[in-house]
Amino acid sequence: MARIVMKFGGTSVGDLARIKNVAKKVKAEVDRGNQVAVTVSAMSGVTNQLVAYCTEANPLHDAREYDAIVATGEQVTSGLLAICLQELGIEARSWQGWQIPIISDDAHGKARIVEIKGEDLIKRMEKGQVPVVAGFQGIGPDNRITTLGRGGSDTTAVALAAALKADRCDIYTDVDGVYTTDPRIVKTAKKLDKITYEEMLEMASLGAKVLQTRSVEMAMKHRVRVQVLSSFSDAPGTLVCDEEEIVEQELVSGIAYSRDEAKITLVGVSDQPGVAAGIFGPLSDANINVDMIVQNVSQDGKTTDMTFTVGKADLDRATSVIKDKLKIPFKALNTDKNVVKVSVIGIGMRSHAGVAQKMFSTLAEKGINIQVISTSEIKVSVLIAEEYTELALRALHTAYELDAA
Ligand code: ASP
Ligand code: MG
Repeated sequence: MARIVMKFGGTSVGDLARIKNVAKKVKAEVDRGNQVAVTVSAMSGVTNQLVAYCTEANPLHDAREYDAIVATGEQVTSGLLAICLQELGIEARSWQGWQIPIISDDAHGKARIVEIKGEDLIKRMEKGQVPVVAGFQGIGPDNRITTLGRGGSDTTAVALAAALKADRCDIYTDVDGVYTTDPRIVKTAKKLDKITYEEMLEMASLGAKVLQTRSVEMAMKHRVRVQVLSSFSDAPGTLVCDEEEIVEQELVSGIAYSRDEAKITLVGVSDQPGVAAGIFGPLSDANINVDMIVQNVSQDGKTTDMTFTVGKADLDRATSVIKDKLKIPFKALNTDKNVVKVSVIGIGMRSHAGVAQKMFSTLAEKGINIQVISTSEIKVSVLIAEEYTELALRALHTAYELDAA
């Protein structure tokens, strides 16, 4: 017997027929003798619609009311799934965040889970009950409903698995696992059987949209084994787990890309102490995240160019901060939205040299210019012109021998 948390995303609960299909999947797990807790997203499209209502009502709406509204999507699906499970003879009960409670901080719209009181649910599961928990929501210190940021029901599922001391957290979605790269672009992309927490965290934060980044952080912290799989097939998915569980570790596990970046270059800033602080201080004060940074050498020993990237959505704000708030003089400001960040990720890089070099030479062979580079222990990212996205992904996928046979 195992204790399992099953999570179903928006497309998996997109209509009543699909919710009934989900109920069958849950019943199958119960029939195998497992203790099961379920968490659900809103029906696909519903959260977007609710967000749109808030924006229409007032673009500068109160974030507490936004949460009261957008949390309702999950309330509907948790109740409906409980009814469909009862129909199949399962003793199921829906739970809203505040009822458990799932305690969060007060950052309305993007709250973090602080604690889940799981004892009561565990007792009920031991007696054969199946709790169906509304994803994406919690209760804040002011006793008001909070939501956990878009895609947040993944985080609900993982946090619940940690609180219930579950053996596994199965995340059912519309793809059947985590792929070496985006299969819509690279036809030879392979489904991974297993991937480490560290790699999955890089994949998620570098643009792979399978899991909410916070849910992976949570899984890594609490060592929750997470399986990503499709609710529309019976095939096994991808297990996100500890390095020790993976016998054959590839050098590179995946290639991610993100079109969400924009490039900013400040031409002719002086080459002296305090310049970086003078540029990035005001940006960080404005809550703008800077990702990749390069500072060129100065040819004359006096001035240099500083190039960096911010999220595309922050570009306009970033340029106005630069124009209005920067005390550092510069000669020109250039921006470019037509860029993509491509990253190769693999825990094997820690112990093997040459991974970055292979990336650079592969892109060079295709005539693709690298504009900015950044690296960490387990990834190398480059910024290139957006028009080369497909070409770069395919070439790199082949170069690192990831193509399916
Ligand atoms: N329904 C929420 C959203 O669309 C949460 C989720 O699906 O994970 O973002
Ligand atoms: Mg999702």
